[in-house]
Amino acid sequence: MGRRGAGGWRRARSQRVPDLLLLTPLALEAAAAGRSRPSIHVLRTGMGPAKAAHAAERASTMAARAVAVTGFCGALEPGLRPGDVVVATEIVGPRRRWTCEGTGPLLAALEVVGVRAAAGPIASVDHVVSGPEREELARSTGAIAVDMESAWLAEAAHERPFAVVRVVVDIPGKDLRRTIGTVRGGLTALRSLQQIVPALERWARAAAPRRVLLAGPRSFCAGVERAVDIVERALDRYGPPVYVRKQIVHNVHVVRDLERRGAVFVESVAEVPEGAIVVFSAHGVSPAVRVEARARNLRIIDATCPLVTKVHAEARRFARVGYTIVLVGHAGHEEIEGTAGEAPEAIRLIERPKDVEALDLGGDRVAYLTQTTLAVDEVQEVVDRLRLKYPDLTGPGSEDICYATSNRQAAVRVLAREADLMLVIGSRNSSNSRRLVEVAEREGCPARLIDDETELDPLWLVHASTVAVTAGASAPDGLVDRVVSALRGLGPVEVDERSVIEESVQFTLPIELRPAPVGSDSSAEGR
Ligand code: SF4
Repeated sequence: MGRRGAGGWRRARSQRVPDLLLLTPLALEAAAAGRSRPSIHVLRTGMGPAKAAHAAERASTMAARAVAVTGFCGALEPGLRPGDVVVATEIVGPRRRWTCEGTGPLLAALEVVGVRAAAGPIASVDHVVSGPEREELARSTGAIAVDMESAWLAEAAHERPFAVVRVVVDIPGKDLRRTIGTVRGGLTALRSLQQIVPALERWARAAAPRRVLLAGPRSFCAGVERAVDIVERALDRYGPPVYVRKQIVHNVHVVRDLERRGAVFVESVAEVPEGAIVVFSAHGVSPAVRVEARARNLRIIDATCPLVTKVHAEARRFARVGYTIVLVGHAGHEEIEGTAGEAPEAIRLIERPKDVEALDLGGDRVAYLTQTTLAVDEVQEVVDRLRLKYPDLTGPGSEDICYATSNRQAAVRVLAREADLMLVIGSRNSSNSRRLVEVAEREGCPARLIDDETELDPLWLVHASTVAVTAGASAPDGLVDRVVSALRGLGPVEVDERSVIEESVQFTLPIELRPAPVGSDSSAEGR
């Protein structure tokens, strides 16, 4: 929330000011936060708007790198219960709204201390609201909780990172004073408040100005664009449900979004009702899966990336002319299962350079193929070792590691030399995202894989003044904006776009999903 000049930040650092100024309206809340100490200054502000406004004036002149409000609140969202923790994404006051940009890292810090919090707008009002007025407040503001101080205390931030974390004591139908007055209600709320404070300290330690280097290219590749587009078009054209075998691409956000729109993700075609539409994921399938789908009379739409299809064709070609194929990739990965299924008798799977030693292949016709999303330098080492052992080794016409994988790794290699920390946005099961982490680490740059800003532990940022951000080929670019915004919530950010290679690759859609000529009818075909 807000910014301050770099000079101000330098002064704050050199004067060794507390990391956090913690504002708490009630004595009980201040007691839960504990005494002021070198890292945290606790200020009891008093209850209600008038006292909060007065305290904010005083607090705005007090030295601290970040400011936070904590205390009790009333729930507006019916699902919240006493003791639940709420983090404000926005403060909705009577006259204006404040956006709290650092919410993601704060949620991550809370998770580290064992608190799962709800995030959403908090409304600040100047009187106790109950009954229908409370319902109207929830409806008109979109807030999930209500208090009587945060909008006034927000003025104390004075361009410093600002957060509000509240504990629910009051739910619709039960008034705050009655809930907190019970021994059980008071103790539950107090325990939650005590848990919050270490997380706020963790969050405040990361408050600092930063340089952010954005890796280019990053995020969606042409194969992922096409696969997601295929499911969206299938939903538009045929209506839900559209079944998708496995995750269409390895990203939780993409999968959740498509699920909301009516896609149904299944592990095997056996789960798809006979005659229904099934989309094969970007990672491809083995011939056995196609046979099973046809036997169930499914209408197949194939979203296999054309670059994976190319590897399948190479496997068939080598096997047909009698080669033993060394397939380099990760056991259990869907792409490897699909490729290996093209010629199971001819293929030997290995994962690492050291696996070459144990290979015992009869005959002199040996070929290699690779998973499309491996680390370029690691694969080179495997191929070098294979060639030493099998001098007549042959390989694919052009590299199997795809352009998107190589380009994203090249960008990470360049940025890793300048950055104190590399943030890779991608899901745990995304092979290409995990390789980006390894590439950065091999360059000596600490790297973290996160699904989004809510996994960004502020502690990683404490000594990171230059942070590089990239996203795996299956992660939407909007997540990069969200991570940058979260960093901005921790202090001023200077963003530097660094594109090392321009990409222009595009793949065409399967014929059944291309825009139909005017007046014609179209349907998915069984194959
Ligand atoms: S990472 Fe490469 S192989 Fe995989 S979908 Fe993207 S372009 Fe295709």
